[in-house]
Amino acid sequence: MLLSRFFLPVLKETPKDAEIVSHIYMLRAGMIQQSSSGIYSWLPLGKIILDNITDICRNEMILAGANEILMPTLQSANIWKESGRYEDYGKEMLRIKDRNERDLLYGPTNEELVTEIFRTHVKSYKGLPLNLFHIQWKFRDELRPRFGVMRGREFLMKDAYSFDVDYESSIKSYNIMFISYMQLFKKMGLKAIPMKADTGPIGGDLSHEFIVIADTGESEVFLEEDFLSFEGSLNEINYERDLQNEVDKFTSFYAATEEKHNPNDKKIQSLNLIKTRGIEVGHIFHFGQKYSKPMNAIVNKNDGKNTPVYMGSYGVGLSRLVGAVIEANHDKDGIVWPQEIAPWHYNLINLKSGDKSCDDTCKNLYKLIQEKNYTVLYDDTDERAGAKLARADLLGLPFQIIIGPKGIKEKLFDLKNRKNGKIERLSYDELSNFINQNNR
Ligand code: ATP
Ligand code: MG
Repeated sequence: MLLSRFFLPVLKETPKDAEIVSHIYMLRAGMIQQSSSGIYSWLPLGKIILDNITDICRNEMILAGANEILMPTLQSANIWKESGRYEDYGKEMLRIKDRNERDLLYGPTNEELVTEIFRTHVKSYKGLPLNLFHIQWKFRDELRPRFGVMRGREFLMKDAYSFDVDYESSIKSYNIMFISYMQLFKKMGLKAIPMKADTGPIGGDLSHEFIVIADTGESEVFLEEDFLSFEGSLNEINYERDLQNEVDKFTSFYAATEEKHNPNDKKIQSLNLIKTRGIEVGHIFHFGQKYSKPMNAIVNKNDGKNTPVYMGSYGVGLSRLVGAVIEANHDKDGIVWPQEIAPWHYNLINLKSGDKSCDDTCKNLYKLIQEKNYTVLYDDTDERAGAKLARADLLGLPFQIIIGPKGIKEKLFDLKNRKNGKIERLSYDELSNFINQNNR
């Protein structure tokens, strides 16, 4: 990508109303633009990151055996009246009337709608287990939208829903999702810690939140010390083969803590707990027959008897994750994207656009990088060298290749590792070797 052709409205000044670093950097790097309170447009760079995060999540759901569907943003109030949640949900739900005075709402979550789809088509245990997921915008009229995309009113969520014929198999479905969450956050370059949680308005008997540790997190959490050093001995897994083993590993590990715990609880005091703050990036619930009973989602068991189906629901805050990744990966100069979701692998910087040898060297490298199937953002603009370097640090691509007249003369070029700040001076051949060798 040529930077001169890329819509990247970088801000020089720190925006006044932004309080936390991810919000500041997202605005400064031209990733988002506020449209109204808690509602944002995603500009090209923001959209690339949101898509990268979404793709990782989607792929993991498919690996875990879930089927992708797409439900609408607007839902009929009728199904919410059936489940009993229409009144309960309160002011966070945006209620709308159509021209025929029918009650609609902008979906804050989808348990009702997916249950309606399920009950229309599945009547027997033979269709189970089943997991349906979608990736769709949600609306919650939050009391205090803040911190940019972290607590928006409109936000992108991946939500999956599992259906099973009995309690045991639905716990197994829950565990599959638990493990797939550990996998997907890791694949985003994030350490997300699972914690036992309240089931809240979604209800049910079992629930975990996945928390990214950050000083700016809204939730106060108490972690068992071991979690911080735990690097997740988690390799990419084969769901069929490794599931039980992974579940066992984590069950023994996460038994620890609870948000909002009782500090007088002796059991908790005996653990080595650290008080810290975190960002909730995912939340999974097992709630059994809570919706299937009132909504009459009944399946026939293999003994011929009927039962309301057992369900769970599994959310990932995709747009919140963009902010969470930045909270977890930045320094004073800007964002430091993890390799896994970086918008491009290389930032090629021409310190003197218009200078023939700088231009030629950059063009060759630009071609070479793409031939090796890496992505590259080429700063071919005619701004000052200092401004280009500062912008590159703000954008935070994993590697910067810096080409200027001095390097051309000395036949040595700077390769900067954005994460550790180290700059190597390499000959053209060494540089192309680096690119060749997959040396990310
Ligand atoms: P929170 O406690 O942060 O308000 P929640 O528990 O109400 O979130 P869930 O119903 O569990 O949210 O939704 C699943 C995921 O969607 C959350 O884990 C979070 O990552 C994301 N999410 C929820 N509300 C918002 C919001 N207002 N803005 C951005 N993401 C959100
Ligand atoms: Mg939650």
